[in-house]
Amino acid sequence: MGGERLDSLARRARDRLRAAGVETPDLDARLLTEWATGASRLDLISAPDRLIDADKVAALDAALTRRCQGEPVHRIMGVREFYGLPFRLSPGTLEPRPDTEVLVDLLALVIAEQIARNGFAELVDMGTGTGAIVIALLHRFPGLRGVGVDISDDALATARINAAENGVSARFAAVKSDWFEKLSGRFHFIASNPPYIPRREIACLSREVRDFDPVAALDGGEDGLDFYRVLASHSGRYLYPDGRIAVEIGAGQFDDVETIFAEAGFVLAGHASDLGGHRRAMMF
Ligand code: GLN
Repeated sequence: MGGERLDSLARRARDRLRAAGVETPDLDARLLTEWATGASRLDLISAPDRLIDADKVAALDAALTRRCQGEPVHRIMGVREFYGLPFRLSPGTLEPRPDTEVLVDLLALVIAEQIARNGFAELVDMGTGTGAIVIALLHRFPGLRGVGVDISDDALATARINAAENGVSARFAAVKSDWFEKLSGRFHFIASNPPYIPRREIACLSREVRDFDPVAALDGGEDGLDFYRVLASHSGRYLYPDGRIAVEIGAGQFDDVETIFAEAGFVLAGHASDLGGHRRAMMF
């Protein structure tokens, strides 16, 4: 038999994470308990006496050990929700973050207009990682076709799985390219959440980011702005004349990024702030 009651398991998970000094022990314990046992949030309240099999108890214990050692909860689960959809993570992908949802919202406005006018639209996501940005938009707009570009084979494989699991494979292509190197054709929209952390600040990031997000997805060069220069200088060749490019930016980068794009002939057309009130996404 073996097994353990769901309520005792959930309590034990919380106590272990609290004792280890994890920042959000209650939330993390709930997420990991749901993930390891297959119980829903409602089950935790309404079926406290459900018996959980020993193998699931063992899986939860292993997950708690990893969490206590500092691994982020979604890395352990291998999946994170973004824009209401599940996205698998892998070593080559940045964890999709809620802040990036404002970039999706900013693009959604203009994509809706384009589709209303022409019946369809095409978008390329530069440095797609899990594919979160393009796949969230494909899921929202059946008239949209999307390309995800990345240099990491691991990221591209993960993006393909995410496209399939979110039901948009038929309208999604994953392309291996070092930024624009292998890209061809023209698009109505370019989206990108490029690496934008100034190199010497990477060491100062929280452990969960520094040790578990791929450095290639964080390192924006000396001043953090390298890839805005790449995007600004190449995008014109891949956009239709009335096309738009939207990028995520880091703290304090708004003015510099506006200048970089202005020097390449782009005019700021809109921006959006994240939940913390920081300007997080810009569109040209
Ligand atoms: N948002 C990430 C962080 O600061 C950075 C992501 C990026 O460089 N695009 O943790």
